[in-house]
Amino acid sequence: MTDAILVINAGSSSIKFSVFAVGDQDRLAETLKGQIDGIGTAPHFKVRNAAGAVLADADWPAGGGHADALERLHGWFDGRPNAGALRAVGHRVVHGGPDYAAPVVVTPEVLDRLETLVPLAPLHQPHNLAPIRIIRAQMPDLPQVACFDTAFHRGHPPVADRFALPPDFHDRGVRRYGFHGLSYEYIARSLPEDLAGGRVVVAHLGNGASMCALRAGRSVESTMGFTAVDGLPMGTRCGALDPGAVLHFIQHMGMDAAQVEALLYKQSGLLGVSGVSNDMRTLLESEAPGAALALDLFVYRIGQELGRLAASLQGLDGLVFTAGIGENAAPIRARVCRDAGWIGVELDQAANDAGGPRISTPASRVSVWVIPTDEERMIALHTLAAV
Ligand code: ADP
Repeated sequence: MTDAILVINAGSSSIKFSVFAVGDQDRLAETLKGQIDGIGTAPHFKVRNAAGAVLADADWPAGGGHADALERLHGWFDGRPNAGALRAVGHRVVHGGPDYAAPVVVTPEVLDRLETLVPLAPLHQPHNLAPIRIIRAQMPDLPQVACFDTAFHRGHPPVADRFALPPDFHDRGVRRYGFHGLSYEYIARSLPEDLAGGRVVVAHLGNGASMCALRAGRSVESTMGFTAVDGLPMGTRCGALDPGAVLHFIQHMGMDAAQVEALLYKQSGLLGVSGVSNDMRTLLESEAPGAALALDLFVYRIGQELGRLAASLQGLDGLVFTAGIGENAAPIRARVCRDAGWIGVELDQAANDAGGPRISTPASRVSVWVIPTDEERMIALHTLAAV
């Protein structure tokens, strides 16, 4: 029987989780992956094993909150034959603020410190922290590790960290943090050997989407800034927007802060522009003019950000596509690569249709890759190392 690491990625109404068995020489094998949806209303629990077979698919009693869900999850886990002992729990925490440049073992002091960052990520941070407190109360001796989406970007050069605002704002935390760091860190470790020391742009294109510039495997710039709404247009988030537009919404269009938040986070991006869907698969199949416009804008903005990030890197050796759209949407990759011909990208159409891993021609000055990301494994690796 081996020990296990539980990885938790908690949101407002769902908890995604993975279990990794700790093998010889601390090798990690993902054994379970699941999700509890509808927390607070109609909780539903589903879990699969490594082969994809469904091990549980059940409604849980209505109205139970996060504490109830975690207790049931623990009970289910303990009741499995050969479950092994939980060695630690690793949590995805969106914000580590200016100070946390690495994962941290959670103590009451750390938890209080992370709580002070809630205003920087009000839509995510409280939900990330709640399970840590609950598990602490239920199992005080079980080590827990917080792994941050911001940490991988903490080595940005000072100019990349700043807005052109008075220094007081910077000192009070209004900085360009960058997000999706666990995904970028995983990709940085998975780069082909000849790119590991080079200048690489990674496009993490999922429901949330951002891009990151890596020099020798370290992040030097990102398209996301103070919040995860900046940069590329996403499923429902608008991406970069003239800050003057926000003032206009409030001063001249009668919108209050809650309405602006809903617009920027939930009603914009691919969904808002297309009027059809936030889902790339639906948009690629749609005949609606709005869908075509949304795809045009998405591809155009990726191309623009590629140029910006290449400027930060003073050149480009590699481009990597990852996450749901990056790993699966060959037509989007093809369009981005064609638009990037100016910077030395030459697409291998057949390799792209086949999903890679290398999708550029041998003659391409910039090599282009599809590399599946695995944020859960990154969290498990950090958690194991921290305890
Ligand atoms: P999240 O940010 O929620 O983790 P994902 O990384 O799972 O998002 O990406 C979700 C996006 O990936 C959706 O827009 C979805 O349509 C897209 N996607 C998934 N599979 C495919 C596919 N086979 N072809 C095109 N797009 C896909």
